[in-house]
Amino acid sequence: MTDSTRSFATPYRSHTCGQLRAGDAGIAARLAGWVHRRRDHGQLIFLDLRDRYGLTQIVVDATEAPEAHAVASRLRNEFVVSVAGTVAPRLAGSENARMATGAIELRATEVDLLSEARTPPFYINEPDAPIDEALRLRYRYLDIRREPMQQRLLLRSRLVHAIREVHHQQGFVEIETPNLIRSTPEGARDFIVPSRLKPGSVYALPQSPQQLKQLLMVGGLDRYFQIARCFRDEDARGDRQPEFTQLDLEMSFVDEAAVIGFVEDLVIRVTSTVLPERPILQVPFPRLTFAEAIERYGSDKPDLRFGMELVDLAPELTAADGSASSGFRVFDEALGNGGRVKAIVAPGMATASRSQVDELVELARSYGAKGLAWLAVEADGTIRSSIAKFLGEARTAAVVARAGAQAGDLVLVVADDPARTADVLGRLRTELAARLALADPKVLAYCWVTEFPMYKWDDENRRWDATHNPFSGVRPEDVDLLTTVSGDLSKLSPEDPAGRARALQYDLAMNGWELGGGSVRIHQRDLLERSFSLQGQTAAGMAEKFGAVLEAFEYGAPPHGGIAIGIDRWAALLTDQATIREVMAFPKTQSGTDLMLDAPSVPEPGQYAELGLRYVGPTRT
Ligand code: ASP
Repeated sequence: MTDSTRSFATPYRSHTCGQLRAGDAGIAARLAGWVHRRRDHGQLIFLDLRDRYGLTQIVVDATEAPEAHAVASRLRNEFVVSVAGTVAPRLAGSENARMATGAIELRATEVDLLSEARTPPFYINEPDAPIDEALRLRYRYLDIRREPMQQRLLLRSRLVHAIREVHHQQGFVEIETPNLIRSTPEGARDFIVPSRLKPGSVYALPQSPQQLKQLLMVGGLDRYFQIARCFRDEDARGDRQPEFTQLDLEMSFVDEAAVIGFVEDLVIRVTSTVLPERPILQVPFPRLTFAEAIERYGSDKPDLRFGMELVDLAPELTAADGSASSGFRVFDEALGNGGRVKAIVAPGMATASRSQVDELVELARSYGAKGLAWLAVEADGTIRSSIAKFLGEARTAAVVARAGAQAGDLVLVVADDPARTADVLGRLRTELAARLALADPKVLAYCWVTEFPMYKWDDENRRWDATHNPFSGVRPEDVDLLTTVSGDLSKLSPEDPAGRARALQYDLAMNGWELGGGSVRIHQRDLLERSFSLQGQTAAGMAEKFGAVLEAFEYGAPPHGGIAIGIDRWAALLTDQATIREVMAFPKTQSGTDLMLDAPSVPEPGQYAELGLRYVGPTRT
């Protein structure tokens, strides 16, 4: 069913403001909505009436309808009215091809004023007018009346609808897991809710439904999904919100390929339903191992809409016996210490001025690099470079050739430890592609990244932190790495073989953003306990944090796996928005404040006492 075939008829309206067409000329109609614009020509008053569905021009003629004209002359923008009249074709030449209803107008016989409006704090009828975001958030209900916000919220609604449809078709059960639970950690701080009935105790709001969905698999539901609200109390950084929405799903009797297969099909179907005109770069989605993604793109969420891959320069900088002897001390030291010397090529940037190159060097430093070497290949092939004098002519030419640079290109080189080299070049790659407009903004480049390391060594706490999810499974060929230890079982060390174990973890990335991630889980209690102890959990700690799951796994747990995909981010990417706030009806500011409701707020008198709490500081500001 489409809007043109739906009935919107109520006592206030027979049609919506987006519905009437030339074919309706002659019929009686009643419309309701907000005054979008009003043009007073004395005898004739023109109103553009707006609702969610569109705009319709109303003509109120003093001679035809004096009472209606009297009401219309009092109207101002954003007043709410219901207008009855006759649909008439517009005069030849005055049709508006940009309006869906532009062939007709409603000649009013009656105008009922339903609600007056103060002058809004910003223009609602000018979609492109820049408005301070704090003002938009303070008056979000007015902001939502603006067309761009409406379009985005409608797209988001279609996105969620399409997601639900695919899941139901595929036999998934939609379950609402509770929000008042015990902590299920995802690496952030919990929001806690004090219990009144159990003074001194708290609920935690879920950082994700992770443990509950695994318990649903033990419960035999086989395929679960939820459009789940997640809560993470993180410091304001990046584009985060304290509460956000995930498509959360879990499947039983699956391996990695089964989950990836289902999700990929879902993503393709949902994308083509919601945005049929947006091309997906490659189907099936490219799959990269974590190691490959870092090696080639310097990122575990690579933007595949453009090339600019990282190139290893070591072969041109090492002698036949493997020793580093490039003539440039920085390179030799990096290679000698197990580091890397890698490059990216910025197409057409050889003409960059000295100060532009200096700015890139500063940028690389701000990303954590010690420096940035560069080689510009001039149009005539000569090479201008910060390091040619150390490398010598032949090696300089060889480096440029290995990097794949053509005349006119600028080669940027980082020498550092492997992780930093990748990270700095990965970030430079993204930044330069944005500056050079290398990525087609229309294209959606989904890709999978797999084979993440299970753990990352945490030197401060002397333990192996899970890189993603504490429940993630280990690749079958790497299970032994978890069960063997280099030394005393109770003393973890960065040399443990577990550091080499790869997880059954997969992330879905798109256009340089992480859209989601999931894993096939460990479903055997003993192996899960082993993994938890590598993560530094004591038996008591495990029982406290994960007791329900560990116990449940003693009662027959099916192999299972799942994923969560960020709905906010997905909607933001599909609508080309830089922040997820633009696709949330009522987002909070970066500092977690709701400017419209003025939350968080000081509790009502007595609320603390009821909970057995007292506020002891710091002093409120
Ligand atoms: N619970 C995980 C998350 O929130 C997703 C998953 O592994 O299914 O990122």
